[in-house]
Amino acid sequence: MAINDDFLTANYARHPVELVRGEGARLWDAADAEYLDFLSGISVSNVGHCHPQVVAAIQEQSQRLLHVGNLFYTDPMVRLAERLAKGSLGGKVFFTNSGAEAVEAALKLARKNRRGGEVISFHGAFHGRTYGALSATPQESKQAPFAPLVPGFRAIPPTVEAIRHAVTDDTAAVVIEPVQGETGVRPIPVEVLRAAREACDVTGAALVFDEIQAGLGRCGSLWCWQQVGVEPDLLLTAKALAGGLPIGALITGPGLADVFEPGDHGSTFAGGPLVCAAAHAALDVLEDEALHARVRALGERLRAALRELPGAKDVRGLGLMNAFDLEAGGAPELVRRAVVEQRLLLNATGPDTVRLLPPLVVSEEQVDDAVGRLRALLA
Ligand SMILES: *Cc1c(COP(=O)(O)O)cnc(C)c1O
Repeated sequence: MAINDDFLTANYARHPVELVRGEGARLWDAADAEYLDFLSGISVSNVGHCHPQVVAAIQEQSQRLLHVGNLFYTDPMVRLAERLAKGSLGGKVFFTNSGAEAVEAALKLARKNRRGGEVISFHGAFHGRTYGALSATPQESKQAPFAPLVPGFRAIPPTVEAIRHAVTDDTAAVVIEPVQGETGVRPIPVEVLRAAREACDVTGAALVFDEIQAGLGRCGSLWCWQQVGVEPDLLLTAKALAGGLPIGALITGPGLADVFEPGDHGSTFAGGPLVCAAAHAALDVLEDEALHARVRALGERLRAALRELPGAKDVRGLGLMNAFDLEAGGAPELVRRAVVEQRLLLNATGPDTVRLLPPLVVSEEQVDDAVGRLRALLA
């Protein structure tokens, strides 16, 4: 067994489980016990664990070419950029290795575009742990130990009024998660997204949607903004994009496509042929409208069942990005028991809130099974 913290920094609160194998929405530990995954490595394994098309793409590409760096072209990268741009905002793509790096790229692009300027984000937002992304993540517990942060960031409440007050000619970017994930699955009201779009149109600030968690089919459409009908200037993606391998991307609209010039930004590994080949295979699964319809239907089924759970309230979400609160609190303890006693993986985003992010290939039976396991714990 490899459950040992002696040489790992203590920043993660891990469950005492060693996972060795996965398939679809199921995982197995070192003793071959089976788990039902309703977390997907935090919305990474949207296509399910070890999706055969992703595995085949990795096997094929790994025998051909692993790395050349960004001074050359590779076919998987060039085609992925075209696929992402044409499938979203129609501009250009900068690849990264993670979500936070995609946020950093957007901040740099937006500041360069306006020769400085303030970055506005919402209370309750989560954009990542690196200094720029952390500076746009107004949560005391995450920021305070690491002060001083990057200057020129301001947090406002997600309201129409606050947007109208805060966004000025001095604003470089307004950064928004259309559905706030890490703080408990909180969709930003459509009128607030519309007000942000309007304010950015008037002032020239960049409207940035962080769809690192909510995008790629999670909410029941390829991109979340397609459902709310508000199109950003910059779109950030990462987590599920390469079917389980590390990747991220900043996608621009046409208006900001040419802000970055040679030397402005870079990343050694980003856009490598292996992760881009995996991303094509993942997108082959995730771009499917039949899958999106299924995600919406399964989400409704899940929320309806969660509403019947004793002690559960405020069931909320879009597609298969969902959460509920416990009337009596104790979400971390419920999650701990779910993992250890029921072999159901999910997580708590706070003391009261349980979040469910199953792979999008989950079956109806597995949705019912997960709620049944929660009911057994809450009874
Ligand atoms: C996970 C996440 C990030 C950070 O991504 P990393 O790959 O962990 O750096 C940023 N924004 C949102 C909305 C996320 O969910």
